[in-house]
Amino acid sequence: QTSVSTATFDRLESEVRGYSRLFPNVFTSAVGSVMRTNDGRELIDFFCGAGSLNYGHNPPEVKRALIDYVSSDGILHSLDMITQAKERFLRTFDEVILQPRAMDYRLQFTGPTGTNAVEAALKLAKKRTQRSHIVAFTNGYHGHSLGSLSVTGNQSYHSEYFGSHNNVSFLPFDGYLGDFDTTILLEKMLSDRSSGLPLPAAVLLETVQGEGGIHVASDPWLQRVQSLCREHDVLLIVDDIQVGNGRTGEFFSFERAGLQPDMVCLSKSIGGGLPLSVLLMRPECDVWQPGQHTGTFRGNNLAFIAAAEVLQNWQNDDFVRGIQQRSDVLREFLSSLLWQSPQPNWDVRGRGMIWGLDVGDGKLARRIIDVAFKNGLLLEASGSQDEVLKFMPALNIPMPLLEEGLQRFGQSLRQAMA
Ligand code: PMP
Repeated sequence: QTSVSTATFDRLESEVRGYSRLFPNVFTSAVGSVMRTNDGRELIDFFCGAGSLNYGHNPPEVKRALIDYVSSDGILHSLDMITQAKERFLRTFDEVILQPRAMDYRLQFTGPTGTNAVEAALKLAKKRTQRSHIVAFTNGYHGHSLGSLSVTGNQSYHSEYFGSHNNVSFLPFDGYLGDFDTTILLEKMLSDRSSGLPLPAAVLLETVQGEGGIHVASDPWLQRVQSLCREHDVLLIVDDIQVGNGRTGEFFSFERAGLQPDMVCLSKSIGGGLPLSVLLMRPECDVWQPGQHTGTFRGNNLAFIAAAEVLQNWQNDDFVRGIQQRSDVLREFLSSLLWQSPQPNWDVRGRGMIWGLDVGDGKLARRIIDVAFKNGLLLEASGSQDEVLKFMPALNIPMPLLEEGLQRFGQSLRQAMA
C-alpha cells in the first residue's frame, strides 16, 4: 500500500479542489476503464477524466509510443518549434480526420487545456470580423478563465467580481423553452438592427451541452443556426471540447447535422489523455499575424505522440461500430429505469456515449454518486443544480464492464432511494 495522508492535501492544496472530495480515495493505477486505489479497490470509470479519456486509461499503443519516444530522447518541450512529433500529429490528423471528411481547416495549437482553445476562438472571431459581440447559450459551458467564463451560461460560476458578460448575449438553447423554436430569437436579433444589439462576431455553441446537463440540440436547430450565421456573415464556433473526439459516435459532434463551422475548439481527448488544445479554423479565418496569440506550452510533444496513436482508431470500422453498440446499451438501460419505476420529474437524454439521467434534484444526484462510488463506480453530475447524472464511459469500454457498471449503478440507485 502507498501511504498518502489526506492531511497533506488539507494543509497544502487549495480549498478549490473538487474531484478529490467527490472521490476521496488514493488512486494508484488505471488500465482501460478500471481505476485502482491503494486500498485494493477497483472502480469502473464512467467519468473518463471529464471526457479526456475517451480511449480509456493508458491505451497500450499510447504507452508503447510514449516509452519509445522518451527513451529515444525525443523533444519534450519546444514552444511552437517544428518537431517530428508535431509533424506526425498534423499528418495523422489530416489523413485520418480532415481528408476523409473533405474538411479544409488549419490548426492552431492553443495550449494544454480546453479553455485555451475557447479564448483563441473568441479573439480570432473578433479580429476576423472586427466586431466585439458574441452570442452564446443558456447552460453552455466554455471554461473558467475570464473570456471563456464570460460566454458560460451558468450563473453559479460567476460572481459580481469576476463574472463579466461584457459583449455577450445569451439566447435560449434548443429545448430550453420546451417546443418553442429558439432560432426565431436568433433570427430576430441578427436581422433587426433596431433591437439595439450589435451584430455579433460569432455564435458559440456546444451541440450537446456536457456540463450544462446533457442537452442535445436537434439537427434542424443546428442547421438553422448555421444558415442564419451564414446569411448575416456571423461566424459559427462549435465548442467540441467535451463532445468531440468521438463522444457522440462521430469524430466531430456536428457531423451528423452536416455543419461546417468556421471554427472548432478541441481539447480533452484529442491528446489521448495528455494535455492538448487545438483550434481548427477555416483557412479564410486565419487572420493571425505571426506571434500574435502565444503561450509557452502550446505544442505538447508527448500529447502529439499519444494523439497520433489514438487517432488511428478512426480507421477501424469495428471501433466506430462499437460506439453505437455501447450507446444502445446505455440508452436502453437508462430508459428501462424510467419504465420500471416512472418518476414524474426524471428524464433521460443523450447521444452516442454521453448520456444523462436527470433526477431533478442535486442532493439526490450527489447521494447516488456517493453510493455508486462506494459500490465501485465513478460517475459525476452536471446541470445548473448538478441534478443530472452523467454517463460517459470510454468509447471502447469492454461490453461486460459496461454492463457490470450499469448493474452497479442500478444497485446504487436503489440503495440511495431506499
Ligand atoms: N468547453 C467545454 C464544452 C467543456 O466541457 C470544457 C471542460 N469541461 C471546457 C470548454 C473547458 O476545458 P478545460 O477545463 O480543459 O479548460
